[in-house]
Amino acid sequence: MDEGYIKFSFDLIEKELPKSLDWENLESVRKSLFKKGLIGNYPDGIGFGNISKRVRNSEFLITGSATGGIKDLSLSDYCLVNEYDLAQNYVKGTGKISPSSESMSHGAIYSATKAIHAVIHIHSKKLFDQMLTDQKLPRTHKGIRYGTPEMASAIADIVNLINKNSGYFVTAGHDEGIFAFGENLEIASLQIHKISKKYS
Ligand SMILES: [Zn+2]
Repeated sequence: MDEGYIKFSFDLIEKELPKSLDWENLESVRKSLFKKGLIGNYPDGIGFGNISKRVRNSEFLITGSATGGIKDLSLSDYCLVNEYDLAQNYVKGTGKISPSSESMSHGAIYSATKAIHAVIHIHSKKLFDQMLTDQKLPRTHKGIRYGTPEMASAIADIVNLINKNSGYFVTAGHDEGIFAFGENLEIASLQIHKISKKYS
């Protein structure tokens, strides 16, 4: 499976993140997604699912790489992305762990509009298959693979096309991949709730 490894180049400033980042609300949303199996581990041990929130300007706090299968995360399992460059496929972060391999996709959503402050990425075969049958639902092209600059640019286009501060879409070429976003974490998780109701 094409999942779980970092395809962008990055620099990591290795140090503890300040507790003032208020990561607990991110962790509590993540916990409920983990319980539902929307963030977790495949049988081969590869983790899936990640969550982030904008801190200020282009900075966002995101779950670390390969944390999908871990039940409870601590602050040191999160990475603060300080800057990212979609075209150069480059990320600069701070923390004790590398940023999620899907950080670029999160960055693409934040870059689309300043009003978006939270992004959730889950995997679910059941929801994904149902969502693909909905012809009206926005999706990235099947030929675009996860973690590539093409994916980042396709995601930015989709968020612009949706033209709302909250919503969701599927990544047809990234199996089981679903993204939701919103003005804040509560609204982003409400999108997941909507998807679960509509497509199960
Ligand atoms: Zn994914």
